[in-house]
Amino acid sequence: MATKIKEAQDRLFKNMFVCQRCETKMRADPQKILKGKVKCRKCGRSQFRVLKKK
Ligand SMILES: [Zn+2]
Repeated sequence: MATKIKEAQDRLFKNMFVCQRCETKMRADPQKILKGKVKCRKCGRSQFRVLKKK
């Protein structure tokens, strides 16, 4: 069952990023994040960090 929980967490946290400026959560392709193609819907910045798992 532990694997199922991990899978669920992966689904929730995978490809989730947080805007470094306004901390809006966004789901996006990591490759696009790295290339700066994703912009925050709130402040328009393209600087993101990965969402921390808690
Ligand atoms: Zn933002």
